[in-house]
Amino acid sequence: MTFTIITLGCKVNIYESEMMRERLEKAGYHYQKENPDITIINTCSVTNMADKKSEKMVRQAKKNNPHTILIVAGCSSENKRIKYQDFDIDILLGNKDKSKIVDLLKKWEQTKQKITQFYSTRELPFENMTIEEFHSHTRAFLKIQDGCNNFCSYCIIPYVRGTARSKDFQETLKEAKKIAQKHKEIVLTGIHTGSYFTTDGHDLTDLIHEMSKIDELKRIRISSIEITELNEKFMTELKQNSKICNHLHIPLQAGSDEILTRMNRKYDLNYFENKIKQIRKIRPQINISTDIIVGHPFETDELFEQTLKIVKKLQFTKIHAFPYSKREGTKSASMEHQIDNFTKKERNQRLIALSNQLERVYASSFNQQIVEVLVEEQKDAYSIGHTSNYLKIKIYESLTINQIYQVKLTNLENDVLIGSTLKTKSNQ
Ligand code: SF4
Repeated sequence: MTFTIITLGCKVNIYESEMMRERLEKAGYHYQKENPDITIINTCSVTNMADKKSEKMVRQAKKNNPHTILIVAGCSSENKRIKYQDFDIDILLGNKDKSKIVDLLKKWEQTKQKITQFYSTRELPFENMTIEEFHSHTRAFLKIQDGCNNFCSYCIIPYVRGTARSKDFQETLKEAKKIAQKHKEIVLTGIHTGSYFTTDGHDLTDLIHEMSKIDELKRIRISSIEITELNEKFMTELKQNSKICNHLHIPLQAGSDEILTRMNRKYDLNYFENKIKQIRKIRPQINISTDIIVGHPFETDELFEQTLKIVKKLQFTKIHAFPYSKREGTKSASMEHQIDNFTKKERNQRLIALSNQLERVYASSFNQQIVEVLVEEQKDAYSIGHTSNYLKIKIYESLTINQIYQVKLTNLENDVLIGSTLKTKSNQ
């Protein structure tokens, strides 16, 4: 039988889809995009838009391919259990039991009875799952953590992903060693990656320290980390461990203490600013990107101007800007002083314009420098890859994917840095 997987949302969902693909292929199913016998949709619920997109995919799946066995899982089905039970779905899950995809399919094939499995998300153990390689990306995502206990006022994730929990330390190292056979860079990911902490007392820094002993592994990237998790132990590792990529994605979310408090974020601007200064002392050229929500309830024009000001002051290199999305069931959804969509849109556009400007300034500051590029894609006339500090580089040469090259940067073309490989031994 053939199958396809449609994945929405974050790196954790992408990893879980890879895991489902690997298990199905090992069980003799074949991956095929066109008219598959089985369609799996791994949904997302981070914003209202994500929910709508997930629901649309589910509705279209049977319409486009009436005979397909439809399996739906993920945050949107977890969040909207009742609604999804009305859809024409054969196997309906939330965020648990994705690792049991083959057993569930076998059960359905025997009974042809609809299977629906949901659980309370607050007591979920870490669902063991590992992969050996990553088909969809050259830089492999490695899920090490799930769930979150922070309950930021605007966020639905703790309700759909459950309590914070971590993958076993030795299991993770074993998996990383396997993945490193085929991938030079691993991106550590989770719902709240920085809260990685195992039952035997290992934290994220311990994991990174041990993983960096894997010879084949050249780069360790952290998908996202909260400012409060950049403790002294981590800073020491950042200073000593060159395999840690020169890029940190640290969500700020808002540029005023008033809104940070209403968001139930665990820091104030002063704390955030001092940590950024400390990081830059250790890694002066580091790329620091961030997430910011505009238009959270109570955000006045003045408070938004403060956000623009602090973004400039902290010199982020890229801002993932999101207009506040009212998520039923979260604290912010019932707050007064909700902001109208026009204002949210206008503020979001201004922040994106500023982000593009900062990104351009950061990228051009590396022009004429020699950098190391991990090639990820090969197109007809050129290759594409990223540096450790997450600069996207275009090289008009035919190069080997998953190989790291020394590259001299020569110019910018449509905001993408162009370079050519140095005729050095390491590039042979
Ligand atoms: S830290 Fe906050 S924003 Fe991030 S997943 Fe947890 S509750 Fe959501």
